Amino acid sequence: MTTETLHGSCLCGAVRFEIETPFENFLYCHCSRCRKATGTAHAANIVIAPERFRWTAGEDQVARYDLPTARSFATAFCKHCGAPMPHLTRSRTRVIVPAGSLDDAPESKPAVHAYWGSRVAWFEDDPDLPKRDAVAFWSANISPPHRGDRCIIRV
Ligand SMILES: [Zn+2]
Ligand SMILES: [Zn+2]
Repeated sequence: MTTETLHGSCLCGAVRFEIETPFENFLYCHCSRCRKATGTAHAANIVIAPERFRWTAGEDQVARYDLPTARSFATAFCKHCGAPMPHLTRSRTRVIVPAGSLDDAPESKPAVHAYWGSRVAWFEDDPDLPKRDAVAFWSANISPPHRGDRCIIRV
């Protein structure tokens, strides 16, 4: 298996990093902590060995929060834009990488929905949900329709 190098960055671009395959894990997590930490229905995290991670810009712009009531749960984020960033586990044995922060597409896909039983009731894992590209389908008031991979509601 060849080693892939994947690049990642925060929303504002101040922080940049690189990771290498292989991944130890790539998973969705529906636990309540991940929901709070991401503000979404579930996290999408890649787990890698620390030697497969390095900052390429803005390491000093990353803030970290260790949840005091947890054995290991932490978050890291850009001080400017708040975007979730990778962090070393407290045991310093792994790096947790928010998969959405990657600018490159990994070859592998998440292997599991973890804490499935904790998922929010409104999360629909429904393959029949409509799929749309970036077109303002829900409102005629957005103009012009934007293109590319930009958010459809936070233009
Ligand atoms: Zn940023
Ligand atoms: Zn979780």
